[in-house]
Amino acid sequence: MTFVRYVLSWLSRYLVLRSWKRQKNSLLRDVALWGAEVNAQGRMSIDGLDALTLVEQHGSPLLVVNKAQLMRDAQAVLDAFREAPRGSKVLYSYKTNCVPGILREIHGVGIGAEVISPYELWLAEQLGVPGDMIVYNGVGKTEESLRRAIERNILAINIDSMDEIDRIHRVASALRRKANVGIRLGFVPKSQFGLNVASGQAMEACRKVAERSEWLHFQGIHFNVTSNARWASTHLSYVEEAIKFMHEMKSATGLSTSYLDIGGGFGVETTKNMSSIEYGLYRVFDCLPSPPSPGEYQPPSSFLGDVIRAVTTRCDQLGLELPRMIIEPGRLITSKSEMLLARVNAIKPMGGGRKFAMTDAGRLSLTFPCDFEYHEVFVADRPCHDLDSLYHVMGRVCTSADWMFKNRALPELKPGDVLAVMDAGAYFSSYSSNFAFPRPEIVMVSGGKSISIRKSESFEHLTAMDMMDGTRCRRL
Ligand SMILES: *Cc1c(COP(=O)(O)O)cnc(C)c1O
Repeated sequence: MTFVRYVLSWLSRYLVLRSWKRQKNSLLRDVALWGAEVNAQGRMSIDGLDALTLVEQHGSPLLVVNKAQLMRDAQAVLDAFREAPRGSKVLYSYKTNCVPGILREIHGVGIGAEVISPYELWLAEQLGVPGDMIVYNGVGKTEESLRRAIERNILAINIDSMDEIDRIHRVASALRRKANVGIRLGFVPKSQFGLNVASGQAMEACRKVAERSEWLHFQGIHFNVTSNARWASTHLSYVEEAIKFMHEMKSATGLSTSYLDIGGGFGVETTKNMSSIEYGLYRVFDCLPSPPSPGEYQPPSSFLGDVIRAVTTRCDQLGLELPRMIIEPGRLITSKSEMLLARVNAIKPMGGGRKFAMTDAGRLSLTFPCDFEYHEVFVADRPCHDLDSLYHVMGRVCTSADWMFKNRALPELKPGDVLAVMDAGAYFSSYSSNFAFPRPEIVMVSGGKSISIRKSESFEHLTAMDMMDGTRCRRL
């Protein structure tokens, strides 16, 4: 037993040291990759604003959106998709970052909304997104939200289950208005999403939709199969399957496809998903996976170019009319433009000569994606310093599960330091929680100014819906 323990501790030490070296040599150690700068004082700044000053003005933790970077990334997607058939659409996935101040900027350049809940549908309406720029996906479509979607004549309600066909049909016929619908294809048997293709369920759904054409208007098919893909290969193989399905569907049901919606899942060069093995090693040995290499990545223009060409070629071969295309990027549009600034409050020794850095943001409140993705981190007032210490970076909720990073290579830290966690624009605020602390402020930086786009929650917010004196909720 002692021998096994000896081998395991040796292995753990080896893996952690190897990870340290890889973190040090990471090609991501350059804030310019996110459109940030190092100013004359050697400190990190965003559109000319010093990150430390932002924290002094707005408090910590703080989410900072760099508007110029957001606009560049949004425009790059639109440019990359320009070759798609006329009438094709880019719809932003609301669940990725559902902050109205950010969504408004995205809609401002002609990107629509992909929503997955009654709330997100409502928000798209509030933000004035036209019906023909909204697609409603998801597994929890209530009758009330279906009614709104049909009344607004949105581009497509993508059907996720057999039961949903009856539900949409019932609502549409009661309203005496046709519902635009699509079918979400499920390719992977163990996924809970969509209607399975291999078992014949998806085709059966299409037949049912065709029989109910009085109230259901068939728009096309949809799938969403992966996340943070660095290469087009996965999308290409599902595009192939989807077009085969379109072909079979046409002969079996007579339905033709106006829209082929290939979902989201397009990756960014500066983060990566951990593989199952990396995730396991991180859990067992606290060994942080290696950083992604920005070079091993297909940029959006090439990625989407490959997908568009595959759709065109394959439809041509099968004699199918070329459908318009829809993409639903989330991460690709917002990931890089937002960072999380978090304060180090204390340094504590840990057994084995290691150290804890106690901060005001952990995975149970703000950094959940760091649990399964690689995220770069800088110290705001010395982003270029050598990474010569290892830290377990912890959050502030009183549970041992509230960590941000294990064995993270950082410059020697002291209380008061501010960490900048990069790629906070995808799934950070969506997954954030007010576990014991209110959620933080979000600012947008533009033209050398910072504007608050979401105030931090107050203690009163946290109790706003509670019956404080037993009868009455305070409300705001
Ligand atoms: C989450 C989601 C997206 C966006 O995913 P990304 O990986 O952020 O691009 C798109 N479509 C659907 C249906 C989704 O659930």
